[in-house]
This record gives sequence, structure tokens and C-alpha cells, in this order.
Amino acid sequence: MRYRHVIWDWNGTLLDDAWLCVEVLNGLLRDAGLRPLTVDEYRADFSFPVLGFYERRGFDFKTHSFDEVSRRYISTYNQRRYECQLQPGTVTALTDLRAAGLEQSVLSAYHEDTLREVVTHYELAGFFTRLSGLDNIHADGKVARGKAHLRALELHEAPHRVLLIGDTAHDHEVAAAIGADCLLLHHGHMHPHRLDKHGVPLVGSLTEAVEWVLAH
Ligand SMILES: [Mg+2]
Repeated sequence: MRYRHVIWDWNGTLLDDAWLCVEVLNGLLRDAGLRPLTVDEYRADFSFPVLGFYERRGFDFKTHSFDEVSRRYISTYNQRRYECQLQPGTVTALTDLRAAGLEQSVLSAYHEDTLREVVTHYELAGFFTRLSGLDNIHADGKVARGKAHLRALELHEAPHRVLLIGDTAHDHEVAAAIGADCLLLHHGHMHPHRLDKHGVPLVGSLTEAVEWVLAH
């Protein structure tokens, strides 16, 4: 097999949380007198860094504090986060890849402490050799963390043996920056039409993702 390690994105990829992100965001939009959006609109527009996405939805950070909006978003999301389910087939996918001899880890835009808690809550911690999240709440991107993640895994000299699996264009950006291959799933935070122009394989479920990995 071409790969020896799979780096998973968490939100949207293994955790089905796009619907909750939309509900939390809609609370903030309503409070700011702005129009709420549907899950479809969210999947068509969401991007990293989230600051630009918020501005497109109408937030004016000359009058609103981005810090305050981020804090309220995280706090409401966190209060409700365990309402989310894992994506269908998560445990089977992780089990099958482990059985195939692949090491797995998570690289997330979550705060690292939160990431550790949620992965433990969903009883998945035993599948991963490393969990890396961000150290701030601004979800400003995972490139630097991704590079450190690869070094910590001692795979920085063999990035071509690493596959990053995610659900957003940013995951592809991170994979390219760290020299890893990328597989994208369109069951999360972005519509397939936004993911199919990156020249990387695109699949619609974790079952298909595992089939793809095992075939390469
Ligand atoms: Mg994601």
C-alpha cells in the first residue's frame, strides 16, 4: 500500500456537525439583525479562515468584535456539541484502516483540549497515535499545525506516505503545504461542486474513502 499513515480532519469528516454549525451561526446572525442561512447555503459558502466567511454573511468587524463573535460561537457550539453524531461508518472505517496496518491521527481546527475531550467522548481515542488542534479559538487555519503534526509523527521526511482525509478546500491546502496526498469527502461542510476542482480524489462516504485507501 502506498500509505502508512492517515491524518483525519475531525469536523464534518468524522463528526456530522455542519447542521449544528448552521444553527449556532444563525443565532449569531439573528442577534446581529442579519439573515440566517440554510445548510445548503452554508455548504456553498463556508470557508477558512472563518473571518472572511463571516464578513460575506454580513458581519462588519469594524462595529462587531470578531473575538466576541468567535467566543459566542464556540461557547454555544460547545454547549450543544454532543448533540452531534459521528458520520455513518466512522468506527468501521477506523477499524478497517487499522486492520490494514495504517496508523491514524487527527488534525483539527478545534482547540486541542476540546479535540481531546470530544474524541474521548466518542470513544475513538484508541484509534489515533496523535491528536493536534489549534491553540486559539479563531479557526484561522491548520497549515502551521499540520507541519508540526507531521514532524511530531516523524513523517516529515516521508510525507508521500501520508494521506490527509478532509471535507474542505482548506484540508487540501494543508495537505499540499505539508507534502501529503489528499482525499476529500463531500458529506461535510462543503458541497461537492466546490471540492471537485482541486484535482484530488473526491468520495461521498467513509465507506468509499476506505475502499479508495485500500485500493492505493
Ligand atoms: Mg472539516
